[in-house]
Amino acid sequence: MSQSVAVLNHGLLRHIINHSREAILVVDMQHMVLVDANQLACLMLAYTRDELLGSPLANIECSLQDVFFWEALRADAQAEGRAVAESEWINRHGVSFPVEKRVSTFADSGKEFFIIHAEDITHRRELVDGHVHLVAQLQSSLDATAEGILSIDLNGNVVNINQRFSSMWQLRDELLASRDEVQMFAHLKHALQDADGFFASLEKIKDDPNLETEDLMTLKDGRYFICVSKPEFMRDRRVGRVFSVRDITQMKEAECSLVAARDAAERASKEKSRMLEALLISESRLRRLVNSSLIGIMQGNLSGRLTEANDVLLQLAGVQRREFVESGMSWLERTTEESHTLHQNAMAEIRQHGQARPYEGELIRKDGQRIPVMVGLAQLEGSLEEWVGFVLDLTEQRKADRIKSEFISVVSHELRTPLTSIRGALGLLESGVAGELTAKTMQLIKVAHRNCQRLGVLVNDILDMEKLASGKMVINIERFDLVAVTRQAIEANAGYAQALNVRYCFTGHPENAWAMGDNVRVMQVFANLLSNAAKFSPNGAEVQIRITDNAGIYKVEVEDHGQGIPETFRDQVFKKFAQADGTNTRQQGGTGLGLNITKTFVEKMGGEIGFETDEGKGSIFWFTLLASAHRRHDR
Ligand code: ADP
Repeated sequence: MSQSVAVLNHGLLRHIINHSREAILVVDMQHMVLVDANQLACLMLAYTRDELLGSPLANIECSLQDVFFWEALRADAQAEGRAVAESEWINRHGVSFPVEKRVSTFADSGKEFFIIHAEDITHRRELVDGHVHLVAQLQSSLDATAEGILSIDLNGNVVNINQRFSSMWQLRDELLASRDEVQMFAHLKHALQDADGFFASLEKIKDDPNLETEDLMTLKDGRYFICVSKPEFMRDRRVGRVFSVRDITQMKEAECSLVAARDAAERASKEKSRMLEALLISESRLRRLVNSSLIGIMQGNLSGRLTEANDVLLQLAGVQRREFVESGMSWLERTTEESHTLHQNAMAEIRQHGQARPYEGELIRKDGQRIPVMVGLAQLEGSLEEWVGFVLDLTEQRKADRIKSEFISVVSHELRTPLTSIRGALGLLESGVAGELTAKTMQLIKVAHRNCQRLGVLVNDILDMEKLASGKMVINIERFDLVAVTRQAIEANAGYAQALNVRYCFTGHPENAWAMGDNVRVMQVFANLLSNAAKFSPNGAEVQIRITDNAGIYKVEVEDHGQGIPETFRDQVFKKFAQADGTNTRQQGGTGLGLNITKTFVEKMGGEIGFETDEGKGSIFWFTLLASAHRRHDR
């Protein structure tokens, strides 16, 4: 032992060992006891040098790992100077601490030694642990963030991906394992709806690696991401790039519904201004109407008191505005008794339908003068108590109507008298009373006679129309024998039918048919229906006439086998001057007034009129009359 100490005890070596910045221990390889220790080693282990020298190495390190380490070192000749290990040493106070030991072997004078350079790595360990902790903390913060993070180094290796990134992009394990930038971007491209923007940014980054980018990404599955990328620096040195991706789908959806809501609001506001405009237009129209000098306008309540009236109405009624404002005006007081009923009817109609059909009544001016007026009433919007109405002065119209009707009746009467004598004279000539006529003259006389008859029918029709229109037509409704009147009518029109080679046949009727009506007008009704049936029948045809009793109503039918009435003309048949555009009508003549007059007569007698027709096969014109109560002597 003293010999070994002597070997080592060279001044220079001693100096180096003592002043080394590491703890140095020299171990006798054979006995594994300490043969030297420098000051730092003594300090580290809290022993004096004398206490250490001669003590076994196992006093300061005792783990199994250490035993294996020395065994292996001893066995491996190549390990010279290269064996490095971490170990746990125990100081004098029994406190252990980590060391890094670097061991080399040394031989001198047949003795072998291990020289241990040791460093207390407690601090280093703390640093490393701190670092590991920091990294773990960073990783969990990264994983906890709402953004997906991908960082790539300068060589294109993926150095970090947080969990959010892989779940956002549904990255498979193989892809995660590959850690390859190219594969990663190929995967992103596949998931994107429009990858152009993002890949254009990647191209730009190639030219300018310090660039920061921001791209909106639309995914095929409908999600929206926003991707921001920035270069990553370590102590001013660029080490890679970080991509951080945020899912903004919900934000985008909210934005979309916000935009939709804004659009709807805009539309609603446009609609509102359109309605406002329409309202303004209709208001100005209404104002023009109210202020027009033609129509009287009023507003009244259920008792007939007027609450509003325009100037025209006040002028019509001969009432001053001041008077109207002070004492108001009663619509019923200003109208005739007959008009009251019409007004009440209109009010009843208003209650049912909100408005009433216009009626013609009479207004009594303040000075007592009566003015014919047309009155239209409607319920005031939003009120059950009030109504609005217009009043049109018909004085001028009535005057014109009277002049027209007088003119027509004068002309017709003036025509009728000479026509009758011409027709009589022609009839006489035709019957040969004035002597034998040449065939040619006879022909001319016949034409003149026929046209004279037609003219007579026209004049009579016009006179009837006029009488009906002016209310001068008198209809006396009384009990009469419908069967007898029908026979009479058939007889009276037989001549006309004969001339057209048509026959009337009274094919069926009840034994008695006492009906209510005016037999003169019923004769006129028959004259029209029978002459039409003959007129529109083919040569040699038969026209059937029937009466049926339908529980208190008699139905008279006139059936012909002519051309029927074309579909397009059917709703016109009873209108004034209506004639189907058929050659027959032209050939047979007619005014187109007959059926209109007939309908009015039938309706005035309380009956109905109508027709059934089969084009090409014929028509049945029918009318009804009320049956009268039976009397004992009726037969
Ligand atoms: P008109 O004097 O022309 O006969 P009407 O009012 O009696 O006038 O008839 C109106 C039109 O109705 C006729 O012109 C004809 O076109 C059609 N019409 C009336 N009766 C018949 C019928 N029995 N068959 C076919 N058409 C008819």
